[in-house]
Amino acid sequence: MTTISRIDVGTAIVPLPVATGFSSRTVTQREYTLVRVTGDDGVTGIGFCYPGHTAASVATAAVRDLLGPVLLGQDAHLATGLWDRMYQESLLHGRTGSVMRALSALDIAIWDRNARAAGLPLHKYLGGHSDRVPAYASGGYYVEGKGPDGLAEEIRGYTALGFTAAKIKVGRHSPAEDADRLAAARDVLGPDGLLMLDANNAWRDVPTALQALRRWETYDPYWIEEPFGPDDIANHARLAERTPITVATGEIEAGRWRTKELIDAGGALILQQDAAVCGGITELTRIAHLADASGVTLAPHWFHDLHAPLVGAYSSARFVEYFAGDAVHNFSRLIDNQLRVDGGELLLHETPGLGFDFTDEALREYLVDGWHSLTREGALIA
Ligand SMILES: [Mg+2]
Repeated sequence: MTTISRIDVGTAIVPLPVATGFSSRTVTQREYTLVRVTGDDGVTGIGFCYPGHTAASVATAAVRDLLGPVLLGQDAHLATGLWDRMYQESLLHGRTGSVMRALSALDIAIWDRNARAAGLPLHKYLGGHSDRVPAYASGGYYVEGKGPDGLAEEIRGYTALGFTAAKIKVGRHSPAEDADRLAAARDVLGPDGLLMLDANNAWRDVPTALQALRRWETYDPYWIEEPFGPDDIANHARLAERTPITVATGEIEAGRWRTKELIDAGGALILQQDAAVCGGITELTRIAHLADASGVTLAPHWFHDLHAPLVGAYSSARFVEYFAGDAVHNFSRLIDNQLRVDGGELLLHETPGLGFDFTDEALREYLVDGWHSLTREGALIA
């Protein structure tokens, strides 16, 4: 038996080169909670989550004070049992949001650790189906001075990498102004390319959403993502009945139970649950199987380094959301091994576990207050 003997946790703050916006906010930095879980066999796994553009310290504290202590001394290979222990411990502290993101980071580290101990890349440790996975290029953010021409130039960069699918932000400007952006993106992608739209909870009611979507139908969007807030399942379902554009959502959602509610209500045909949000690899695996049985497609949100091997593991998963460069998704600055793109697909790492580590240089630069370390003998400050 391998016992969990040490847990390290810290907060990394990574600034963006340029203020970057979507419908509901503008972001100047990313904050990440980083964890390491070590067993008494000497093998360490890494985990992480994105609690938001500010106050990742809340998730970091949840690892340090609430969830980390229940893992110490436990059998590292009983990952589902460890999930249940952490979930039980979190019942009074939210079950979603920062605490669930903290749980997710630890769960990811446990799976990474165990796959490394087994000497297998994560997608094979999970019993996967492919060594390469399809991806779409995610971007199209609102940046000061970047009009439709700038957006077209950005999308041309993605098609040059071999991508035939790309996503852009919508909902910050008027439907007419955004229509010019859709037109520019469609023009670059051509008639057969897939154009995804992300509204980031832009609308409060169905008529307002429909007014925008009807105007954009001519550009043949593949999906409309997060039209409403995550709790407004009823309006997702109403919208899905009224527009020919496929409704996608789930990136803020936690847990298989809420996912089932969303599926049962007809609120989305594309699920975007994120392993670093919804409850880790343990929970995303349950959700992937639920999606499979429900005839719904999984296209996980955000961390491509994490989700590429998971899309390679789940038969219900179709796309990885891929961020080229580090102008928007700057997690790549923290790690040592980037995924390779080949013809719009990602080639999965063959090295054990997730296939990458945090670099010492990045930790020195971005980790604020260093690591907080928990051991069975008591907390240390590294
Ligand atoms: Mg989104």
